[in-house]
Amino acid sequence: MALTEEYTCKKCGNKLVNKDNLFFYDSELKATIVYPLLFSTASRGADSLIKGDVSETYCQNCKKFVRIYIITTNKNNIENVHEIVKQGINNNIDKKLMVINELKEIKKREKYMVEKKKEKIMSKVAHETSYIVIFPELNNGFTYYGDSGLNEHEVIEKAIDGFHEQVDYILDFYIKDYKKDIEANYFVLDASNNLSESYNLLDNLNCPKCHAKIDYEINEKTPCPKCGGKLSLTNTIDSH
Ligand SMILES: [Zn+2]
Ligand SMILES: [Zn+2]
Repeated sequence: MALTEEYTCKKCGNKLVNKDNLFFYDSELKATIVYPLLFSTASRGADSLIKGDVSETYCQNCKKFVRIYIITTNKNNIENVHEIVKQGINNNIDKKLMVINELKEIKKREKYMVEKKKEKIMSKVAHETSYIVIFPELNNGFTYYGDSGLNEHEVIEKAIDGFHEQVDYILDFYIKDYKKDIEANYFVLDASNNLSESYNLLDNLNCPKCHAKIDYEINEKTPCPKCGGKLSLTNTIDSH
């Protein structure tokens, strides 16, 4: 359902992908949410009045990525739809920064609870105690199950290590995503009134920053953002 085109730089091996991404405006969060087109996500934003497509391309002149948000649905003909989507993009970036800061705080607070559990081991007559360490603030409670062979102190130490690893992993993901968001330039096109005409505009796009001509998507004419080398299409994946 979603077609992903993968390009690889012949010189440095850098990989770039074109994804079929969509967006909807979440009026409760006041955020523009981007998501991939998949069967599992097909109902996302179903109630939203404002929806559209997102593509990412590259400006050779600025040497920056450019995201293009195309509004394809504006159910109630809301005025200033363009501004609403733009504000929603910025709000969503701010929310990511909030999550990053919150995760850093959670790491500092590092609260946990320990539950002891008496377990009956079938092969032995004895009961053994295992410990469950719960970090309630993360992901609705990141839980670490201690091995029965370890004492309480050892289980807690292991759990804290595991907890930090988990938070660092999520933090890393958010920080990378946030950096990409703030480094990219973007613009919003309102195509909700005349789809066919607006799609013709996509052949004549200019960078929102420097106004140089840009393509709608990454293609074989795009120079590699890392080294300027030539890209070639190496894979087309149809994912569901
Ligand atoms: Zn390269
Ligand atoms: Zn530019």
